[in-house]
Amino acid sequence: MNKVNILGIEFDNYSLEEFKDRLINRLNNKLSTMVVTANPEIVMAANKDPKFMKIIRQDADLVTADGIGIVLGGKMLKTPMKERVTGYDLFTWLLEVANLRKLRVYLIGATPAVMKITKEKVAKVYPGVELVGAEDGYFKDDLTTVAKGIEKAKPDMVFAAIGFPRQEQLISLLRQKQVPAIMMGVGGSFDVFSG
Ligand code: UDP
Repeated sequence: MNKVNILGIEFDNYSLEEFKDRLINRLNNKLSTMVVTANPEIVMAANKDPKFMKIIRQDADLVTADGIGIVLGGKMLKTPMKERVTGYDLFTWLLEVANLRKLRVYLIGATPAVMKITKEKVAKVYPGVELVGAEDGYFKDDLTTVAKGIEKAKPDMVFAAIGFPRQEQLISLLRQKQVPAIMMGVGGSFDVFSG
């Protein structure tokens, strides 16, 4: 089964390798792509917030099971999923792809201190990456203004680490404008990456 519904969220039931194939394909075809790596907290929050649920159900192109709790939920519902696919794994793999292909990457999120280290580490570990944005997540502008700035930078990939549901709200604005990038909310990934 390619879709598994857990509490209203339609998960794409692919292995990590299958997700990678799909992402490469969408990247090659310059398709606007919103990826949600949904953990149990996100599923619960979406069930309490219809607007958040709507964003995931209508705007996300790929939804991964980010957490063992989701994989266990699938088993209990007798619709087992292939595997857990975390935001962090996809984030670092996509950076490798961007490094090899010399792609334009926009990062937004985390504290100014964490963003500074993240930016330096990306430059060192993935020198082929063209960083077209490296903004911290404590901005004053509204999300529409922030989305305009991201669109203007013409990124191939966007990673937003400003906490849910705001990171998904931001990406859905970009997705609705058909910004031709792979775009993903990555929660605390910059904190982990920089640590
Ligand atoms: N964050 C941010 N701006 C905010 C709130 C949070 O950039 O206004 C960052 C925070 O620094 C962290 C990331 O978002 O790097 C994830 O935060 P949190 O752990 O609170 O969110 P969750 O993992 O639950 O999505």
